[in-house]
Amino acid sequence: MPLSIHQFAIGSDNLGVLIHDDATGKTASIDAGDEAPILAALKETGWALTDLFITHHHSDHIAALQPLKKRFGARVVAPAADVHRIPDIDVAVREGDRVQLGETDFTIIETPGHTSGHIAYYCEAAKVLFAGDTLFSLGCGRLFEGTPQQMWASLSKLARLPDDTLLYCGHEYTLSNARFAVRYDAGNEALHRRITEVEALRAKGEFTIPSRIGVEKATNPFLRADEPALAQAIGLAGRPAIEVFAALREAKNKG
Ligand code: ZN
Ligand code: FE
Repeated sequence: MPLSIHQFAIGSDNLGVLIHDDATGKTASIDAGDEAPILAALKETGWALTDLFITHHHSDHIAALQPLKKRFGARVVAPAADVHRIPDIDVAVREGDRVQLGETDFTIIETPGHTSGHIAYYCEAAKVLFAGDTLFSLGCGRLFEGTPQQMWASLSKLARLPDDTLLYCGHEYTLSNARFAVRYDAGNEALHRRITEVEALRAKGEFTIPSRIGVEKATNPFLRADEPALAQAIGLAGRPAIEVFAALREAKNKG
């Protein structure tokens, strides 16, 4: 594995991630929500921060960008679409661009929907995806700036990655997502198995993240809007996936 990964909590439900290129020692923080827990994670790992890989402009993902850049001189990689609202960007990236962390390559995947500029970082060699607030385990981000069509297209892109791709995301929302998922996919055995696993992990105080793309394809209702059972459950039998997706997202907003 060319990449070492350290995940940690930021506040009540944000997830921080440090990634470390073993060959060169370069270390990136995926997003920068809060300085203190990121500094603590750097201390714990002994890694020196060189890069910030930003997924989107929300403050729980960039509040510590400027303090960390100032402290470490870190290079800031962020969406080109957000240059007007993310400060101090060094490398503005778009769909298909490649960024390096030392000797490890990442491909940028544009995933508009949660925000219009949102991006994900995919490392094919390490089989790992950093999806920010686009794809959560058993859930997806709220549509603050995008249409259901955009978000469905973004999620469908992520779902095409290999099944064994590890999924890291911006929030530990899995348990509450599970309660929603089971309402609309009650006959899904894979979902019930995942819920049992998630409850056990949370009972031990452990993260449910990373998940895997294949697990999410089998269990996440927002990737399963093309399944007849979900269309039926939300009262849209025979309707296109995009309508089912939009209705599921709407129902989730209502809690
Ligand atoms: Zn967000
Ligand atoms: Fe967030």
